[in-house]
Amino acid sequence: MRRVRVCVVGAGVIGFSTAVCVAEALPFCSVTLLADKFSPDTTSDGAAGILFAAKFPDIPLERQKRWFKDSFDHLLDIAQSQHSPEAGVMLSSGWQIFKEVPADKKPFWADSVIGFRFMTEGELKRFPDHNFGQAFTTIKCECSSYLPWLEKRFRAAGGSVEQRKIDSLQELSSSYDIIVNCSGLGSKTLVHDNQVYPVRGQVLKVEAPWLQHFIRDGDGKTYIYPGIHGVTVGGTRQEQDWRLQVDDGDTRSILERCGSLEPSLSKARVLSKWVGLRPSRRNPRVEREMVKLQGRRVAVVHNYGHGGWGVTLAWGTALDALGLVRQCLDDMRLQAKL
Ligand SMILES: Cc1cc2nc3c(=O)[nH]c(=O)nc-3n(C[C@H](O)[C@H](O)[C@H](O)COP(=O)(O)OP(=O)(O)OC[C@H]3O[C@@H](n4cnc5c(N)ncnc54)[C@H](O)[C@@H]3O)c2cc1C
Repeated sequence: MRRVRVCVVGAGVIGFSTAVCVAEALPFCSVTLLADKFSPDTTSDGAAGILFAAKFPDIPLERQKRWFKDSFDHLLDIAQSQHSPEAGVMLSSGWQIFKEVPADKKPFWADSVIGFRFMTEGELKRFPDHNFGQAFTTIKCECSSYLPWLEKRFRAAGGSVEQRKIDSLQELSSSYDIIVNCSGLGSKTLVHDNQVYPVRGQVLKVEAPWLQHFIRDGDGKTYIYPGIHGVTVGGTRQEQDWRLQVDDGDTRSILERCGSLEPSLSKARVLSKWVGLRPSRRNPRVEREMVKLQGRRVAVVHNYGHGGWGVTLAWGTALDALGLVRQCLDDMRLQAKL
């Protein structure tokens, strides 16, 4: 019998996570991952990669909790294995601090991270402008290492990879039975989704090996994340801003804001500057539909629009996308019997 041909579009953290889940769980499918940009040139490559999340308004909280927990547990296994340095996945402890006490003092993911607690008054003393804080251990996943590691795992499961830009899903209709769309911001043109928009983010990598704890301002704009390859300091959240160039004003503002949280950063050497566009949407789109492509009905599974939380939710949403691919296969078997 002919193998079912699956094409995953996108080589960021969402595409590779989904491709690995499908290739490993469904060995009777032939899985191709197709994308125009691969590591180190995707948005995922520059993400700080810290596991955190905000709530999406219209997705049941139980589903969001599952996405977070599935991702966290998957990456925790890697962080605690011999694969940790090659995969770029490490445990990271630190503080999220707030000027005003937030309405939601205990976020929905508090039970998934390790050792979540409120900061003591003594701990908050070093942040005199802040009145509330959370201390916990989470994970930092550096995609410039993690994506090549996932690609190896995908190839080991029999997957193949093709570098190509497509202008329409029509181009894939005769070669594949199921298309999995993980094209991030590319979905705006690829599937004409006007709900997807960019949120520009600029970060710097600095050399400051003495910093071991992350510090994140609860407003999400200022953060210091020590990692395996330097410390990521940021950032910006500029909605509908498509500029990919580094902005010197943003650089100054980042160094000033981060320096006010961690004065020793004035001694750190700047290693690099980077800009990426978060593929944002009111809610991520993780669902399936049947699409008529060149007269043929083709099953399409969407998995895109994770905004500033794509690294955090990648494995969890990939497992959901795998479930949707299974449903497509069930429908195809049923059709074949009719
Ligand atoms: C400054 C910054 C910091 C961030 N920090 C964090 C963080 O700490 N934690 C966190 O969880 N998230 C973070 N994010 C968010 C995270 O980077 C994204 O959510 C994530 O990278 C989205 O992954 P993706 O695979 O959907 O998209 P991408 O990485 O952009 O990949 C999209 C893929 O689709 C391909 N593609 C698109 N269109 C086409 C087409 N027409 N034909 C062929 N291929 C196509 C592209 O080539 C690419 O391979 C950060 C983002 C930024 C910008």
